[in-house]
Amino acid sequence: MSLRPTIDFLLYDWLQVPELQSRERFADHSRETFDAVLDTCERIAREKYAPFNRTVDIEEPKFDGEKVILPQATHDACKAYAQSGMLSAAQDYAIGGMQLPYTVEAAANAFFAMASVSIGSDMLTTGNANLLMAHGTALQKQVFALNEFNGRFSGTMCLSEPQAGSSLSDVATRAVPDGADYQNDPLGPRYRLRGNKMWISAGEHELTENIVHLVLAKIPDANGQLVPGVKGISLFIVPKKLVDTNGQLTGERNDVALAGLNHKCGWRGTTNTLLNFGEGKYPVRGDTGAIGYLVGQPGEGLKCMFHMMNEARIGVGMAATMLGMAGYYASLDYAKNRPQGRPMTAAGKNPASSQVRIIEHADIKRMLLAQKSYSEGALALALYCARLVDEQHTGAPEAADDARLLLEVLTPIVKSFPSEWCLEANSLAIQIHGGYGYTRDFPVEQYWRDNRLNMIHEGTHGIQAMDLLGRKVLMENGKGLQLLAARMQATIARANPEWQAEARQLADALQQVGAATQAAWQGAEPAQALANAVPYLQAFGHTVIAWIWLDVAQCATGDTAPSVGRRAAARYFFRYELPKIGAWLQVVSTRDSTCADVPEDAF
Ligand SMILES: Cc1cc2nc3c(=O)[nH]c(=O)nc-3n(C[C@H](O)[C@H](O)[C@H](O)COP(=O)(O)OP(=O)(O)OC[C@H]3O[C@@H](n4cnc5c(N)ncnc54)[C@H](O)[C@@H]3O)c2cc1C
Repeated sequence: MSLRPTIDFLLYDWLQVPELQSRERFADHSRETFDAVLDTCERIAREKYAPFNRTVDIEEPKFDGEKVILPQATHDACKAYAQSGMLSAAQDYAIGGMQLPYTVEAAANAFFAMASVSIGSDMLTTGNANLLMAHGTALQKQVFALNEFNGRFSGTMCLSEPQAGSSLSDVATRAVPDGADYQNDPLGPRYRLRGNKMWISAGEHELTENIVHLVLAKIPDANGQLVPGVKGISLFIVPKKLVDTNGQLTGERNDVALAGLNHKCGWRGTTNTLLNFGEGKYPVRGDTGAIGYLVGQPGEGLKCMFHMMNEARIGVGMAATMLGMAGYYASLDYAKNRPQGRPMTAAGKNPASSQVRIIEHADIKRMLLAQKSYSEGALALALYCARLVDEQHTGAPEAADDARLLLEVLTPIVKSFPSEWCLEANSLAIQIHGGYGYTRDFPVEQYWRDNRLNMIHEGTHGIQAMDLLGRKVLMENGKGLQLLAARMQATIARANPEWQAEARQLADALQQVGAATQAAWQGAEPAQALANAVPYLQAFGHTVIAWIWLDVAQCATGDTAPSVGRRAAARYFFRYELPKIGAWLQVVSTRDSTCADVPEDAF
């Protein structure tokens, strides 16, 4: 079973991506150049990633007291990825990039996520470098970002602390000016950082010459106090090894120490670390404290970091999606080969007949269609959002602004829908395998374990839900929601006769979401309105995916097996999934307080 035909259909038949060639930035591109990138990534993923997915799960990262040891396969895969040019694919030609549309970059990266989601931490490196390209000084770009794009350095994002996860305003890492001349360092205003960062992915390894940590920390006020809230947070580049203005290592180790590795449920190919900044394990230039260079203005750290987090959230959604796809393909293959049971006929079962393959049972088909509808629907949404990113960056001003606002509203969905429902897809893939699915002899349990992370990192499910209902649907007088509704209405208006019933169902769902949004906020305190934010997120996500499927289904014409399959998945989603929104929106609209009111000692 190959992913490529689905990617090709979505990119070329549905999204018409080659039309981007008319934009100046993409003028040298065509379907041929896009295909070449997809071919290369598909090949590297097949050769360097897929065969080692189990290896990286079994051979967890180890710390020998000095170095973190990873399997050789991880080194080989990361090298092959860097050599493919994918780290800088979207960058300008002038700095060695390919000026590839983000839509194609995202599609190409999908092959790696499906082959082995945890081998590479490249998403962090490109996200880190992209942030520096947006907010760094010319020299910070030259020294740090460019060396990340060429694969010499890798990147991390250091937000979380043991006591500050969802609540970043409680970050306690301190940054104080480093000496009287701290303003004059060519790499940026120089500070000394002290504090602990928890959960840092790819925080320590030997895969690259250096690691560029992007660290959130607070600069104390004149009284030495940390400013409460997010306004006091600034952003710093803290390299593991210090570098000169040419990007060469100076031979000095910065005061960043690995306190320990976290041993995870899944996603084990990527190290996950507790890092101590500035505790004096590696004193530098005669003093304790990790040297960090300010990025952007003091107090604007979180704003800069969001540049990285929005990209990361689309990436997390894509990773969850591809794990869903991997489980779907594995369970489809299993269902076609596993003989078990006999068909029920009017005369009962005939025990003398041979067993049928389980794919012949309606319940197995139900579980396959559920997985297909979640995963392919989520993939279509992720590519749609990636296409909006290209619109935001290269479209005419009005279209670009619309794309920006649509992305604001869709980002919590593109992250959360796959995190929840492609995880459910993985659970169904285990179910199809029966007892074998619950063993480590088949790959599906690993997909589930790997996928379980996605509802937790990059903003938990609960935080995404509050972002959607508490901020995104309200911002700029609800314009993002109105734009999204207009796009859905356009799909509804275009629906051909075969899809009229679904079009009406989607119009009704849209109306229900709009009414629930208003009812949730009608004269309510935020705590009341947001008490059922997660059911709202679920209903919103299902409505968005129903819209995506209605649009995709219009394109899946003809009697070929893939078209029949896509239309079946679309129908499944409308008949089995979309009706669920009624229950979710009921508690939102009535501001049901069953959960909020239950006293703690009643548990
Ligand atoms: C494998 C892994 C990799 C990670 N990688 C990185 C990384 O590279 N860099 C980085 O900075 N961080 C990283 N993280 C951290 C991740 O972003 C945090 O775990 C996440 O933000 C949640 O923080 P927490 O674990 O402290 O949980 P908490 O914030 O304590 O949340 C616990 C629960 O309480 C809920 N909750 C919290 N506040 C509220 C509220 N106000 N209202 C309602 N519910 C609430 C949450 O939704 C959650 O269900 C990673 C985490 C993991 C597990």
